[in-house]
Amino acid sequence: MYKTIEEQVLKKAAPAELRAEFIQHEFERLHSFSVLIYLASIAIWLVFDLVVSFLGEQGFTWRSMIFISLFAILTLVMGFTRKARHFDLITLLFVLILTIGVRLIITGIPANVHSSWLVLAAASMLYSVSVLPLSRGAFFAAQTIIWLVLNPFINTPTRLIELRGVMTASYSIFLCALTIYTFLKLRQAKLYNYIMSRLLLDQAYNDPLTEIPNRRSFMTSAGQHLQTVPREHEQYLAMVDIDNFKKVNDVYGHDVGDEVLKRVAADIKAVMSHFEYARLGGEEFAIYLAGVCRADVEALAAELCRVVREQPTRHPVTISIGLARVEAGDSLNQALVKADEALYESKHTGKDRYTFHV
Ligand code: GH3
Ligand code: MG
Ligand code: MG
Repeated sequence: MYKTIEEQVLKKAAPAELRAEFIQHEFERLHSFSVLIYLASIAIWLVFDLVVSFLGEQGFTWRSMIFISLFAILTLVMGFTRKARHFDLITLLFVLILTIGVRLIITGIPANVHSSWLVLAAASMLYSVSVLPLSRGAFFAAQTIIWLVLNPFINTPTRLIELRGVMTASYSIFLCALTIYTFLKLRQAKLYNYIMSRLLLDQAYNDPLTEIPNRRSFMTSAGQHLQTVPREHEQYLAMVDIDNFKKVNDVYGHDVGDEVLKRVAADIKAVMSHFEYARLGGEEFAIYLAGVCRADVEALAAELCRVVREQPTRHPVTISIGLARVEAGDSLNQALVKADEALYESKHTGKDRYTFHV
C-alpha cells in the first residue's frame, strides 16, 4: 500500500515553488557543511600556494594575499547568508576566484605537468560543487566556469590529437558526466524524500475534512507556546462546540453535517487568523490566544458566534464557546479542562454564547 501511495506521489511533477522550498531547506540543513567545504578548499589552495611559492621558489607575493583576502570575505559573507539564491551567487564567485587562483599556482610548476594538475584540480572542484546545496542552474554554471578556467588544453603544451591529450580529454569527459549524473540523481532522490516527508507531515498535522490543523498539531504548537511565552503575558484558551450538531446529521444527512463542519472551520479561520486554532475532533474546535486582554478575547468570541449564526446558508447552526485564562502553572490539558467546563456552562445556559471560566 505504501509503495502505491509513494508511486502516485512521485509520478506528479513537483511544482516550482515546492522545488524552491526544497532548495532553501537543503541550504539551511547544509549551511555549516558548506562553510566547511569553503574552508577546506581555501586550506588546500593555501597549502599548494605555499608549496609552489617556497619549494617551487616562485615567492609568496601580494597576489596570494589578495586571493586570501577575497576568500576570507566570501566565506564570511557566506557564513551570514540565509537565502539559497544568494548562496548560489556567492558560490559561483568563489568558484571563479578559486579556479583563477589554482590556475595561477599551476603556472608556477613545470609546463609538462600542467594539464595533469589542471584536471586534478578540476576533479576536486567538480566533486566539491556536486555535494553543495546548489540549484541546478548554479551547478551547471559552476561546471562551465571550472572547465573554462581549468581547461587542460588552454595555455598548456598538451594537444588533443596526441596520446596524452586523448587520455586527458577522455578522463575529463568521464569526470564531467559522472559529477553531473551524481548531482542530478542525488538531487532528485532528495527532492522526492522532501516531498514525501512534507506530504506525511501535512497528513499527520492537518484535519483532512476541514483542512485546518488537527489535535496533534494543536497540542504540539499550543503546548510549546505555553512553555515559551512569559507567564506574565495573558494567554487564553477557547473551546468551541457546534450546537445540536447531531440533529443536523440526523435531519439532513452526514454530507450536510460535513459541509457545516467545513463552514464553521472556515469561520474560525477567518475570525481567529492571528491565533492558533484546530479541530480537536468531532464538532469540537480549540483556539489558543496570546498577546490579547480579556476584553479582546470576549469581543473575538462574540464575533465568532455572530459570524457563524449569521452565515447565509440553507443549514444555519450556532456555536457555544468556553473561555479560560491560562494561569501560571497551568498545563495545556488543565487549561483545556477549564475551557471545557466553561463550554458546558454555555450549553446549559441556552447555547449560542460564550462563557468565561470563573
Ligand atoms: P450539543 O449542542 O450539546 O453540543 O449537542 P450535539 O448534538 O452537537 O452534541 P453531540 O456530541 O451529541 O453530537 C456530536 C455529533 O457530531 C455526533 C457525531 O455523529 C457527529 N460527528 C462527529 N464527527 C463528525 C464528522 O466528521 N462529520 C459529521 N457529519 N458528523 C460528525
Ligand atoms: Mg460535542
Ligand atoms: Mg455539539
